[in-house]
Amino acid sequence: MSEERFEGSFTQQEPIPEAGIEAAIAVLRHGRLHRYNTAAGEVAEAALLEEEFADLIGAKYCLAVASGGYALGCALRALGVQAGDAVLTNAFTLAPVPGAIAAVGARPVFVEVTDQLVLDFDDLAAKARASGAKVLMLSHMRGHLCDMEALVALCDGLGVRIIEDCAHTMGAAWKGVASGRHGVVGCYSMQTYKHLNAGEGGFLISDDPQVMARAVLLSGSYMLYARHRAAPPPEAFEAVRLQVPNVSGRMDNLRAAILRPQLPLLADRVARWAECYQALEAGLRGVPGLALVERPDEETYVGSSFQFLLPDWSAARIGAFLGRALARGVELKWFGAADPVAFTSRYQHWGYAEAQCLPQTDRILAGLVDMRVPLTFSVEDCAQIARIIRAEALVVGQGPEPEAVVLPVIQ
Ligand SMILES: *Cc1c(COP(=O)(O)O)cnc(C)c1O
Repeated sequence: MSEERFEGSFTQQEPIPEAGIEAAIAVLRHGRLHRYNTAAGEVAEAALLEEEFADLIGAKYCLAVASGGYALGCALRALGVQAGDAVLTNAFTLAPVPGAIAAVGARPVFVEVTDQLVLDFDDLAAKARASGAKVLMLSHMRGHLCDMEALVALCDGLGVRIIEDCAHTMGAAWKGVASGRHGVVGCYSMQTYKHLNAGEGGFLISDDPQVMARAVLLSGSYMLYARHRAAPPPEAFEAVRLQVPNVSGRMDNLRAAILRPQLPLLADRVARWAECYQALEAGLRGVPGLALVERPDEETYVGSSFQFLLPDWSAARIGAFLGRALARGVELKWFGAADPVAFTSRYQHWGYAEAQCLPQTDRILAGLVDMRVPLTFSVEDCAQIARIIRAEALVVGQGPEPEAVVLPVIQ
């Protein structure tokens, strides 16, 4: 019997819903793409999008911006982070996170992660004290939430304010509280690989009127901030309207039009991702040498990606495993490679940050395998992917040590 092969694409998302396509065409036809370019009595798509997302997440205020990375930088500036300040962040995250910190001239201070892929609280406390950092940019990397109640208590005690990077947790929750609602600011991405797709885009949410007034001004609102609907009242802008620099990064009406019809679909997407995730998890449980990341009961996660660990496997063995999986159509990413591939860079690769040493994170990332799960996959696809991974992990894990490290080339 020939071996089964997976034929789907790991980078193919679902199409934009018809209502989004129609709304986008309407914007193109009238031509008022800039969010402050409205006809008499018209409310801009961008302003409506903000209002609707604030309602969906349960936040007082929302600002739509050009990208998730822009939202992170804007949040840092809105909290008053200055050049030279230390900012705590996860050692395991994606490059836009330390990039946003470096872009405001601040210094990323990396915090160890645990084998559950979340912040190590002991290391967080130690690094906060040693660095004097007053802000934590918490990355819910790959959708894994730490104990948010414990974290908020710890940070309150340390005098550290939290910005949440919810690029992978839009639609997730901790004990029923939406991800993004625990920190002072929550930031989201609507880039194609996240949970809503506008190509590019970001949100900031907050309940703090001063922080949000600064964020709106930063985003490039000129003196038109009163046109926002999910923003604090004009009084909140009075003291700062001539003080806050304009760092343009607005959302436009075209992308807002594409996004608005996707908001009511988020809950269904989260439910479908959960089914996919659980099919992968069930299919990979009990494979010798392969460790799953167990999800806490308190966490409502979004299974838009899947991670597992191959603890203590050599680089040669992992390379052989990745190659065999790829040959059967299963595209896996490895966070342990010496040279980063696609999005798998690690803190050592971020040469603009001070050199730091995080042995626990190094050990974990050396065995960390990651997979995208687009919603074009069915539950049956996920079961098939798990069968292929299981079979190849058994063959390579129990076979002889390969002679050289050979990494497959994925494009
Ligand atoms: C995608 C992503 C971002 C930034 O989003 P962009 O919209 O691509 O700028 C931030 N953090 C994490 C963890 C991400 O995956």
